[in-house]
Amino acid sequence: MQMTELYPWLLPPFQQMQALTENGQLAHALVLTGAAGIGKNALANALAALLLCKNRQPQGACGACKSCLLRQAGNHADLLVLQSETQHIGVDAIRQLNQFTYSAAQQQGYRVVIIPGADSMTEAAANALLKTLEEPPAGCFIVLVTSTYSQLSATIRSRCQRWQLNAGRATDLEQWLSRQSRQPIPPELLDYCQGSPLKALRLLANEQADSLSKMLTILDDYFAGKLLLSATVKQLDGNAELSGMLGFYLRQRLAQPLDFLRQQTVLAVYQRWCRDATRIIGQNSALALTGLLTELKPLLQHQEAKWKS
Ligand SMILES: [Zn+2]
Repeated sequence: MQMTELYPWLLPPFQQMQALTENGQLAHALVLTGAAGIGKNALANALAALLLCKNRQPQGACGACKSCLLRQAGNHADLLVLQSETQHIGVDAIRQLNQFTYSAAQQQGYRVVIIPGADSMTEAAANALLKTLEEPPAGCFIVLVTSTYSQLSATIRSRCQRWQLNAGRATDLEQWLSRQSRQPIPPELLDYCQGSPLKALRLLANEQADSLSKMLTILDDYFAGKLLLSATVKQLDGNAELSGMLGFYLRQRLAQPLDFLRQQTVLAVYQRWCRDATRIIGQNSALALTGLLTELKPLLQHQEAKWKS
């Protein structure tokens, strides 16, 4: 990926990385971290492209040299992107990585390793990686990517330079989103996506952004006693974003004055429903949602509705 394809909020960190690369000061082990859907892997790929390019341009990798062509074809022998076939990155994958870092570069340049989802390394895998992080072989860069920095072990963290990525100002993101999606941006969308522009873009593309506003209104109407339980369930059940949207709605409601005990009960009831949805195979989702809404109603109905227009 060339710089021109990078998301605008990733340009400042990328330019910093470029300057450090030119000065030979880029750390050999980096962690890119930030919210899910902020483009961490895109930045890792752009950095790898830059490091491997034989004809670096002011805007990043040239996209045309032999090294760039090999990389674009997914065929660059000096780039290793760790893939895990299971949910965890195991010790075998890290052994393969170690072997790669200590072998000679094929294109007489840098070698780059990207570890997506680095927080999913097993303890044994993390231990196997430590030595390589401590004394990285010359010319080798290791880029760890994670949404949950705190889940990396303290020893791994202490050996990597942390790059905390942020999506920038909401107004800039809204402008970017409306340019990309060519549609109006619902006011609560970015809040709902917790500052993740790529998630917001996905919801816009799937026409789910509109349904966010609709669902919030439906929930308000239900808790205000203006919509029957059965009608509410009928309209909400089966929506792919239901648990996220419901959680968002409840967090907004809980931000209003409500006694502590009631807050805790609301959260506990919601979390139990989320847990059951993933654990109970073949659960009747409409029935479970009916139970949840019935339980929540007396807890929330005395509050002012927020989304009632
Ligand atoms: Zn190039």
